[in-house]
Amino acid sequence: MQFQIPKGTFDILPYGTDEAWRQSALWQYVEGIIRNTAADYGYGEIRTPIYERSELFDRGVGETSDIVSKEMFTFEDKGGRSISLRPEGTSSVMRSFVENHMANLGPVHKFFYIGPMFRYERPQSGRYRQHHQFGVEAIGVGAPEQDAEVIDLLLQVYRRLGIRGLKVHINTVGDPASRIVFRTALMEFLRPHLPNLSPDSQMRFEKNPLRILDSKDPKDREILQRAPSILDYLSDAAKEHFEQLCRILDNLGITYQIDPKIVRGLDYYNKTVFEVISENLGAQSTIGAGGRYDGLIGSFDGPDLPGVGFATGLERVLQVMAAQGAKMPKNGHPCIYLIPLGSEARVQCLQLATKCRHNGIPAGIELSSQKIQTALQNAARLEATYCAVIGSDEMAKGAMQLKTMVTRETREVRFEELLTFLQKESAHAHPV
Ligand code: ATP
Ligand code: MG
Repeated sequence: MQFQIPKGTFDILPYGTDEAWRQSALWQYVEGIIRNTAADYGYGEIRTPIYERSELFDRGVGETSDIVSKEMFTFEDKGGRSISLRPEGTSSVMRSFVENHMANLGPVHKFFYIGPMFRYERPQSGRYRQHHQFGVEAIGVGAPEQDAEVIDLLLQVYRRLGIRGLKVHINTVGDPASRIVFRTALMEFLRPHLPNLSPDSQMRFEKNPLRILDSKDPKDREILQRAPSILDYLSDAAKEHFEQLCRILDNLGITYQIDPKIVRGLDYYNKTVFEVISENLGAQSTIGAGGRYDGLIGSFDGPDLPGVGFATGLERVLQVMAAQGAKMPKNGHPCIYLIPLGSEARVQCLQLATKCRHNGIPAGIELSSQKIQTALQNAARLEATYCAVIGSDEMAKGAMQLKTMVTRETREVRFEELLTFLQKESAHAHPV
C-alpha cells in the first residue's frame, strides 16, 4: 500500500519539487534572515512544545474565536487530558513566561519563535493544516514605541527577503473600557440587521459582536459599511496611545493605512492591531499580523505586564517571494564528484572524499553505478563543480584528471594535492 501525505500538509524537499517554496534550501535561507534580524532587534529564541493542554488556548485565544471553536486539532491523551496541537504561538509563550517565572529576571523580555502551527481548515493555496509561523512577543513595555518596534522588525524581515509592495494596515481595538461602550453601540446598530446577517455573524452577536466586523461575507460587509467605528469610542488613554503610534510610524518613515475594520481573529488583543497585506497572495492576502495584548499575561495568573507581538506565515512569505521573483538560493552542491572504477579505486576515492568532507569541502562519490556515463550524469545532476574518474591508470600514477564540469577543462592533480587545490579554488570562488 502506498501512503499519501495528510490533507493540507506538504513535504519540504532538498530537490525534486517544482514549487520553489517547498525547497528546503529556501526555508533555511528565510529562517537564517529571520534569526539574524531578530538578533539585531534583541529578540531571543523560545521553543515550546507543539502541543499543550486545550484549556490554554480556550483561555488565551478565546473559546468563541474561529481558531478554538472550529480549527483546533484536539484529542484526548491516554491519561484522559484534552490536548491540542498549537494553533498559534502566543498562548504557549505566555504560559512558558509565567511558568518559568521569567518576570523575575528583568522588566523587559523579547522572544521570537519559528515553528509549525496546526489548524483544521479547508486546504487551499496559502491555507494549510500544518503551516509555519515566525512570531515575536515583546513583554514589559506598554509604550507605543514598542508597537512601532515590532512593526518595524516585521517589515525589516520582509525587506531583507526582498519582498516589495506590502501594505501595512493598523487599527486600535481600544482598551477594555472603550470596548464596552463600543460593543453596546455596535450591537444597537446591528440588532435591526440581525436577520440579514450570515449565520456565523448571528452566532457571534451575543458572544462576541466585535468579531462580526471581521466577517468576510459580502452581505455582512455591505451592512457593516455604516457600522459605528471604534475610533469614535476610544478612551482618552487608548486614543493617546494610537495617535502616538501613528506619529512614531510617521517618524520612522513607515507608510500605513488606518483600517477601522481590523479586529483580528484572536480574543486577546488590546489597543493596537495591525495586518500586513500582499497583493501577490490572492484571497489569503494577509502575510503577517499582530497587535498589543495588555492583560493577557495577567489572565494566565502571571504578573500584569503589557505585551505586543506578531506572527507571519512562512508559506505565505515564500509564496510572495516566488511570485515576485525575489532572490532564492539553491541547494548546496558538491565541490568534487569522484568516480571510481574497480575496487581499489573505490577505496582510494572514499579516502579522498572523506578527507575533503572532514575539511569542509563538499564531496560526492559514485558508489551505485558501474557505468561511467551514468556516473557523469549523476555528477551533472548534482551540479558538482569538478569531477574525476579514477581507474587503474590513475591509480598507477597517483594522479587524476580533474575536470571542471562547466568548461570541460581538465588538469592533472595528484591525489595528495587534491584537498589543497580544492581549498584554494573554493576560497577563490567564495572570497571571505
Ligand atoms: P487568515 O485571515 O488568513 O485566516 P488568521 O487571522 O487566521 O489568518 P493569524 O492567526 O493571525 O491568521 O496567523 C498569523 C499568520 O499565519 C497569518 O497572517 C498567515 O500568514 C499565517 N496563517 C494563518 N493560518 C494559516 C494557514 N492555515 N495556512 C498558512 N498560513 C496561515
Ligand atoms: Mg484564519
